[in-house]
Amino acid sequence: MKALDELDFDNRFARLGDAFSTQVLPEPIDEPRLVVASEAALALLDLTCADAEAPLFTEVFSGHKLWADADPRAMVYSGHQFGGYTPRLGDGRGLLLGEVVNDAGQHWDLHLKGAGQTPYSRMGDGRAVLRSSIREFLASEALHALGIPTSRAACVIGSSTPVWRERKESAAMVLRLAQSHVRFGSFEYFYYTKQPERLKELGEYVLANHYPHCLEQDEPWLAMFRDIVERNAELLGLWQAYGFCHGVMNTDNMSILGITFDFGPYAFLDDFDQHFICNHSDHEGRYAFSNQVPIAQWNLSALAQALTPFISVEALREAIGLFLPLYQAHYLDLMRRRLGLTHAEEQDAELIARLLQLMQMGGVDYNLFFRRLGDQPAADALRTLRDDFIDIRGFDAWGESLLERLGRQAEGTEQQRRERMHAVNPLYVLRNYLAQKAIEAAEQGDYSEVRQLHRVLSTPFTEQPGMAEYAKRPPDWGKHLEISCSS
Ligand code: AMP
Ligand code: MG
Repeated sequence: MKALDELDFDNRFARLGDAFSTQVLPEPIDEPRLVVASEAALALLDLTCADAEAPLFTEVFSGHKLWADADPRAMVYSGHQFGGYTPRLGDGRGLLLGEVVNDAGQHWDLHLKGAGQTPYSRMGDGRAVLRSSIREFLASEALHALGIPTSRAACVIGSSTPVWRERKESAAMVLRLAQSHVRFGSFEYFYYTKQPERLKELGEYVLANHYPHCLEQDEPWLAMFRDIVERNAELLGLWQAYGFCHGVMNTDNMSILGITFDFGPYAFLDDFDQHFICNHSDHEGRYAFSNQVPIAQWNLSALAQALTPFISVEALREAIGLFLPLYQAHYLDLMRRRLGLTHAEEQDAELIARLLQLMQMGGVDYNLFFRRLGDQPAADALRTLRDDFIDIRGFDAWGESLLERLGRQAEGTEQQRRERMHAVNPLYVLRNYLAQKAIEAAEQGDYSEVRQLHRVLSTPFTEQPGMAEYAKRPPDWGKHLEISCSS
């Protein structure tokens, strides 16, 4: 363990120089206070929750103090937003404070979001509101607990600094951790501004620091791109299987590491709805739940375009061609496990598709369905679950197919089946209404609900005594909350 003032910095990205980022000091927020901290994320920096309670912690992560070895910088990038190219974005309200090397030798970016204006702020105030900071914090840590690759969040610091959105709100900062903050849009920026040397430097930097195993391949750039394709296929498999809707899959929000990144109006599905659009500004449904897979592929093509100076178009096409089959394999594998299936059969894809069609008619809570299926012997669980379906006969027929299918595998004891299924089917999911309740309390200065929700979601597969409220279906008011894009 380390003290907060003993962190080791090694600012590799900053050393790339001013073409890649601009030095900017954080602009402090007033009367900073710790809203919530993640013990698991702090451990990545060899810190503990006791460190988070110290005044110094709140001071550094609200922009009042800085380590001598930090080198705070706003990174430049561009990106395709809702399909259209924006030539220059960049960190308009977040700063890479520096890279910390932990005791295990890993580098972690400290990115302080909401740290004030930068040369990339355009018309923005450089701030993040408490509401969106809490949402980013909760989602990062909840996704991680589900086993979904994601940037992490170490803490949220609130303040009395006013911020104007649709109404007056207060500014906050969230400390985001990731092993890199390079985005697809970082490559696009140097490609479209015709800076081939810089583009090459960026690629070599990412290769050396994040894909070093690719350097041993005949074509390191191609090997890296293939890895990126594979990681995104796996990520999308997880998102779709767990019902996670990102909401703003612009290429500037796509991490070069293939992790979930830059949280906005995201949502986990409550009732299953493949057409669900979580961002109420997304009028055309570009980022609807069912569009996430083709959009991820589209984004990979946008990245591929920026890599054409280094990789042949043919090889890039071939690599992108790996995406869908790989995605499908990951998705099917996880969905099988969610249904309690222990081996693969040809017709499984159809069995899953039929289930989703039945759910699509309405009334079925997506994640709870799988959890409940594991609660009792399959035949009993099906009898309990059928009442939620609109097409009950259709569901009964599906249930027969499932039982037949289960009959073709060694089930083990009921206890084993239950454990196997519960290990992949969360009981607690970050539902929008739960986040909303926690945010409303936090806006009144009561952080206990955010902390409790974070705690519950950090072991989502394990039933926790006294926490039944968090495992419930949402009340009617909580089902169709409009999550504002403003943040
Ligand atoms: P996001 O929607 O958070 O992914 O942001 C898209 C772009 O807008 C990025 O370049 C952000 O840095 C910038 N941005 C978003 N909100 C603000 C803000 N309040 N002030 C300055 N820049 C912002
Ligand atoms: Mg973004």
